[in-house]
Amino acid sequence: MLTLDHLTVAYDGTDAVRDASLVVPDGSVVAVLGPSGCGKSTLLRAVAGLEPPTSGTISWDGADLAGVPTHRRRFAMMFQDGQLFGHLTVARNVGYALRLRRTPDAAARVADLLGLVGLDGYADRLPGTLSGGERQRVALARSLAADPRLLLLDEPLSALDAGMRERLAGDLDRILRAAGTTTLVVTHDQEEAFALADRLVVMRDGVIVQQGAIADVWAAPADAATALFLGYARVLDGAAAATVLRAAGLPASSSVAVRRSALTVAEPSVTDGGASGVGAGLVGVVRSTRATPDQVRLVVDVDGVGEVDAVATPGAPTAPGERVALAVEPARLAPIGG
Ligand code: ADP
Ligand code: MG
Repeated sequence: MLTLDHLTVAYDGTDAVRDASLVVPDGSVVAVLGPSGCGKSTLLRAVAGLEPPTSGTISWDGADLAGVPTHRRRFAMMFQDGQLFGHLTVARNVGYALRLRRTPDAAARVADLLGLVGLDGYADRLPGTLSGGERQRVALARSLAADPRLLLLDEPLSALDAGMRERLAGDLDRILRAAGTTTLVVTHDQEEAFALADRLVVMRDGVIVQQGAIADVWAAPADAATALFLGYARVLDGAAAATVLRAAGLPASSSVAVRRSALTVAEPSVTDGGASGVGAGLVGVVRSTRATPDQVRLVVDVDGVGEVDAVATPGAPTAPGERVALAVEPARLAPIGG
């Protein structure tokens, strides 16, 4: 188990990571999520032994790693762009650490790893002939080859285009579970974090602002900035929050974070008073609409609330200027601040 205890890392007297404490239990995948520049890579590099802590400790199974150099930690680190050796075949890239250690049965181990990452038959290819997603899978196999006790991933999917990112997120999740490798991943992409991790650590300006099981953090963001970073569309305060929470049948709270999908333009029968199940609903005037293949996205000026985001099924009466009723889905709201 990895433990960071009050870790601070500074560059030239300025803290890039301040007073960070977290654990990565054996066999789990923990994601540190935060905007660019918040200190994620610095935290990861400190764990790898590439940046010295200013204060605090990094330990493995209770043993302080302060005096342990990078190559003795038995951690593997994988970067955004994989960093393969361009002149070596896929098999030689994956087997690099095994050859350094003169591991017996290296060829069989490489074949196993290529199978694990779904690249059977790629052994003799050169990195330049692979897609971005294939290159990242080779990089992952290479990281796993050394049988690390901890895998450190720095934005492993961020260099890929959207479709590839989604597919590889699923693959990576499956591979990490199959390998059972304890993993600390850092990313600015909340979807990447959600696809991979058991636990989420939210970081901002060098400080951990919240951590917990993914569903718990999702359901109860610590503050408005965290909610917006997690992908909530808006955070409402005061009377607006009270109105939305009442419509959802939830207890009062000083603020509420609202996902776009929390508010749905109701069917006409609902508008006519036939609503049942999803709370009392809200009424407002459509300000703007934007069609996507699956749904219409709207901004609605709701009575007693102001402008909110909402969705409608294609074909619903949703022209700007129209009055519509909105159904509220309580599970897609997150009260903040009690
Ligand atoms: P993230 O990975 O979340 O984008 P980083 O850990 O790379 O953030 O950077 C955190 C802060 O530390 C930033 O303000 C960055 O400019 C600064 N920083 C990162 N690396 C160095 C360095 N080698 N020297 C000085 N400042 C650095
Ligand atoms: Mg970074």
